[in-house]
Formats: sequence, structure tokens, C-alpha cells
Amino acid sequence: MSGFELVATLCLAGLCAARVIPAPVPQSEDACTASAKTILENRRETRPGSTIDAMDCVPLEDLAGKAAAVIETAPGHFVHFGQVETMGPGSVGDFANTGFIIGTEAVAVIDAGTTRALGEALYLAIRQQTDLPIKWLILTHMHPDHALGADVFQEAGAELVGAQALNRSLSLRADPYLTNMDRLLGADVMHGTTVVLADRLVSDRLHLDLGDRVLELVAHEIAHTDNDLTVFDQQSGTLWTGDLVFLEHTPALDGSINGWIRVLENLPDIPATQLVPGHGRMVHSHPEGTQPTLVYLGGLRDQVREAIANGESLNTALRHLGLGLESKWHLFNEFNPRNATNAYVELEWE
Ligand SMILES: [Zn+2]
Repeated sequence: MSGFELVATLCLAGLCAARVIPAPVPQSEDACTASAKTILENRRETRPGSTIDAMDCVPLEDLAGKAAAVIETAPGHFVHFGQVETMGPGSVGDFANTGFIIGTEAVAVIDAGTTRALGEALYLAIRQQTDLPIKWLILTHMHPDHALGADVFQEAGAELVGAQALNRSLSLRADPYLTNMDRLLGADVMHGTTVVLADRLVSDRLHLDLGDRVLELVAHEIAHTDNDLTVFDQQSGTLWTGDLVFLEHTPALDGSINGWIRVLENLPDIPATQLVPGHGRMVHSHPEGTQPTLVYLGGLRDQVREAIANGESLNTALRHLGLGLESKWHLFNEFNPRNATNAYVELEWE
């Protein structure tokens, strides 16, 4: 692929870094130079407090080294696998699986990573593959490791799509998400990262046609969160589950354990042959790939119900809830206690 990308040195609160500012269509060097001034003026208006120290139109091939690593798991179907690690110093926040799907007329992106930089890296990976317009960014849910890299795709002209409750829930948490991520990852890693909301909300189902390739989006009841959305690429038979399915990485409950189990029990109705989990560095066969998450949640629910029936307080129960469910999960001790707490609070009132 060819074309030029605008790279600007943006300074925010005294911290400067090179940022890729995408245009809706791939540009020649002349078009890039001509549009640079307008694009940057627009940014200055919409984002007061930032200054631009330098800008340059860079050939796309010179930016290949900054592109996210992706694997083409089926023709036109690309996955970037996030790392299974804790959030903390030294991490660039690359935790969630993200990717993109290319039709004959357009591209759809699924999730955007934790930071502006990760969103840019995914954008550059797309531009290494195709000149087609990036028409949609689909957010599988509001969590920061999936959603905070989104604004680069809005700049690139994509419509942001999420489940019905996404904007409400993401707005409520926007400030704490940014503050927490600044603290955990550092202001330099988070440079340029802002929260943007979806342009289109899905209450039930939505079909997106990328040109001879239809994606089926389904919004689910409250489960991992209250705004989980799955994406089924009929052509490759691949289901993007977002965090309804975890592999390797211990599941994290931020919605309803009862709802999540129900949703997982119904996911086999979607006629996919393989799935991409929200976390876990693999594509797995469907519906078998849903099993580890279901086994963990089912086991945890049984234990929590038993503790409540025995009259155990949450504090006492937390000493043993999850025992025997560790399996091969990574980060079990980081996530299990919070899951057990959330499940207890929910099931106490059954
Ligand atoms: Zn999540």
C-alpha cells in the first residue's frame, strides 16, 4: 500500500510525542501537506490545551515499524493478540485482542486497545494491508483496554459502534479510567489518549456490509459488563466474543454472573466455527472455546451460593471462594477475589 500519513509532534500538559493524525482516505504527499493545516487547526479547536511543535508527511512504508503485529487468521481477517500480563510500570497497555476485517468496499475494526498509541499502531497495520476506507470501529464493550484507543479511528472517518448501554456506562467511568490508566501506565504511555463515545448504539442486532462480507453484531444482556457486543464474520466463520470469553487470562466480572453464564450457554447458537476471545493469545474452535470461562463462572457461582446458604460473611467466604478453580488461569489471584466479591453481592439477594 502507498500513501502519506501526517505525523505531528503534539504537546499536551508539557509532554510532547509524535502522533499519527489519520485522514479518512490515503493521501498523496501533496494532499497530505495541503490538508495538514486544516486537520491540525480542527484538532486545536476540538482539543484545547494541546500545541503542535512540528508536523511532517511521512511515507506509509516508513511507518511500517510502528504498525501493530497482526496475524491473518482467515483471508482478510486479521487479529492482534494482546499480552496476558498485569497493568503496571513498563507495560504499554497492550492487553486486549483487537483486529480488523476487510471486505471488497470497506474495513471494520474490532476494539482499539488502551491508548492512543495502540490505536495508531492498529490503524497503521490496517494501512499496510489496504487503502479501503475504515468505515466502522466496533467496541465489544467499554473497558479501557478495549475502548480508549478509539479516537484515532474516529479521526480516520470510522463510525463508532457499541451496544446500547456503552455510552452511558463509558461516560460515567471516563474520568476514573483515564486517571487510573495514567497512574498505572504513566502519562507518557497514555499520551494523547481521550475517551470518545459511540456514534451508533445497537440494542439487539445490526448487520454491517463491508462489501461481499457481512458482519452480524449482537448486543447481549448484562454479562461481563452491561454493554457486551459480539461480532460474527460470516465469511470466515469467526466470532469475536470480546470479554464474554477469556482464555489464559482469568475472567473478570464487571456485570452479572447469572447473566454472563446465560449468555455463554446461548453463544453456541451463533453458527461460528472459531472464536477470538477478548484475552488469550489464540483463536479457538467454537463453541468449545467458551468452556473454560463457563466452567470457572459456574464453579464460582456454586461456591458463592453455598457460602451464602451457610451464612458465611463475605470476608470469611473470600478466604476460600475460587479454591479449586485456578486451573491454568494466569493472574488468578489478581482477579478472582474481585469476581468472588461481585458474585457474592449479586447472589446475596437471589
Ligand atoms: Zn473487559
